[in-house]
Amino acid sequence: MINIVKEYRVALPAWIDDELADVPAVVPGREDRMRLVHRLADRNWREGNGGPFAALVAERDTGRIVSVGVNVVLASGVSSAHAEVVALGLAQMATGGWDLGATGLPSHELVVNWRPCVQCYGATLWSGVRTLVVAGEGPELEEITTFDEGPLGADWAEQFEARGIEVVGDVLRDEALAVFRDYRKAVDEADGIVVYNARGGTA
Ligand SMILES: [Zn+2]
Repeated sequence: MINIVKEYRVALPAWIDDELADVPAVVPGREDRMRLVHRLADRNWREGNGGPFAALVAERDTGRIVSVGVNVVLASGVSSAHAEVVALGLAQMATGGWDLGATGLPSHELVVNWRPCVQCYGATLWSGVRTLVVAGEGPELEEITTFDEGPLGADWAEQFEARGIEVVGDVLRDEALAVFRDYRKAVDEADGIVVYNARGGTA
């Protein structure tokens, strides 16, 4: 019989508890929700879990926080463990299923500190969220951090809207860039911070 792995685990780091200790269950303001995302993104790379990326899922109308996610590619060893995928998966565990837009559930929004990469674009489309809130879009993320975001079409926002997902942009954009710049500065100054783009091997 072949010997195969039958499960993989993607989990939030332990320090999340400290960061959430003073966060109320309901965060009514969208900027305040983004502020929390920026704080998690900043701590995430400093802790060595993964890149400077974070996300959360909230009930759109009340602001009740359903889940948070950070990029745990390095901590988990799983290349798809981006902040959005983590936040969406945990929100689905919390709400009881794969469709965050299911009948009987409140409308959910995903809040992210930049436009999703090509993978998370798909993950967001299939998640059932009704709203995507991003701090910004544009080439700055790739220019500053050197992460490859993949071949996302120029009509990405229109594609969301066509599927009933409202896109809200430019929420605390400068603050997002500040987190990316701090990360880049640390990469430039220190060894040991891994930009984990695919095809890192030489083969
Ligand atoms: Zn992603």
